[in-house]
Amino acid sequence: MLILGNGRVITRDPSAPYMESGAVAMDGRTIVKVGSTEELKKAYPDAEYIDAKRKVIMPAFINAHEHIYSSFARGLSINGYNPNGFLDILDGMWWTIDRNLTLEDTYLSAMATYVECIKNGVTTIFDHHASFGSIEGSLFEIEKAAKETGVRSCLCYEISDRDGKEKAKASVMENAEFIRHALKDESGMIAGMMGMHAQFTISDETMELAAANKPDEVGYHIHVAEGIEDLHHCLKHYGKRIVDRLMDWEILGEKTLLGHCIYINPHEMDLIKETGTMVVHNPESNMGNACGCPPTMELVHRGILTGLGTDGYTHDMMESFKVANVLHKHHLCDPNAAWGEVPQMLFENNAKIAERYFDQKLGVLKEGAAADVIVVNYDPLTPMNENNINGHLVFGVTGHDVVTTIANGKVLMKDRELTGIDEAKVMADCRQAAAALANRINSR
Ligand SMILES: [Zn+2]
Repeated sequence: MLILGNGRVITRDPSAPYMESGAVAMDGRTIVKVGSTEELKKAYPDAEYIDAKRKVIMPAFINAHEHIYSSFARGLSINGYNPNGFLDILDGMWWTIDRNLTLEDTYLSAMATYVECIKNGVTTIFDHHASFGSIEGSLFEIEKAAKETGVRSCLCYEISDRDGKEKAKASVMENAEFIRHALKDESGMIAGMMGMHAQFTISDETMELAAANKPDEVGYHIHVAEGIEDLHHCLKHYGKRIVDRLMDWEILGEKTLLGHCIYINPHEMDLIKETGTMVVHNPESNMGNACGCPPTMELVHRGILTGLGTDGYTHDMMESFKVANVLHKHHLCDPNAAWGEVPQMLFENNAKIAERYFDQKLGVLKEGAAADVIVVNYDPLTPMNENNINGHLVFGVTGHDVVTTIANGKVLMKDRELTGIDEAKVMADCRQAAAALANRINSR
């Protein structure tokens, strides 16, 4: 038993959204009670107690779109890289990195990402992996890091024909093998999906191979219309729009997650809505790659289950929250835009997305929900109450204000110190591997 007490509690439970002073009691992987600190201490006198020291206690974050493989891009300078557009960015930077990753690099990239997740209070991620340098076993390397660090992970490998048919086939098989393995996992912390890079790098033959090897229990995780080039390619080669092509391949559905969806029209939105397909928005990445602004507010207003991710650009969901908040105000020239929609995406929809793959109630502090809880170092300088929580968070909090992270009932970080992981050793190993990767890339 563990009690996290003496904090301002944001529950995300509509029946009691905020307590000026309260506590959360956890038994194993589950929250057993939320109430006053005195009441819970009395009810569970033998429980271990962590004092939140009047800081904010809230549900841990969920990231609905990550790229572990991009870890070693930070600070990397590739000779001759000077992109003119999105396709140059993909080929010159991201595909160049993933073509040169070893299995050890993938493992260390995952360790680095998971450490950052924990330090930003993120305890559940949906990763979209590529390492065409070594495909086979790559998802299992990430799983190893997930289990070592304790972050709940839904993994997939992004299938693509970009490096030829053999590698496309190997990427389908890596997904299939990992999904079968994840379906047998009893920890509740690992899941798998059939990953796909984007329709413009996947032939009909590969689509068919993926469909034939996908267990029914899972869906697809694919980038959709991230760049205008993706749409142009689909119209030119298949005479239809992207979501129509996905519909024809039976890729849409409640278990499928579409990244970005920037260049989609109202008809495609209807298909996404009718099939119950999920969408994930990655504001910083879209801006940084100069890809355009997706019609995210419209998707949310239409009732499409739309979540928030980072696309590997950051591991801080508060950063994604802040950028989405200003992006849609700016894009729509409407200072009233996005106030409600973005927190709904981050705090409600990401939990709904994750619950389609994990068996526990996530993103909420209440009896029976997953024991995924964080403590945030925030002392409100104006009154905080159930009506202005999100305003306090978006302007007052960043991921690095998270001081304590608990996932699945395990304390992964306490007072900014990671428990159970030698962070300095992991970072030293990562720096060494990243330097070797940069050498390999620049000596090609
Ligand atoms: Zn992505």
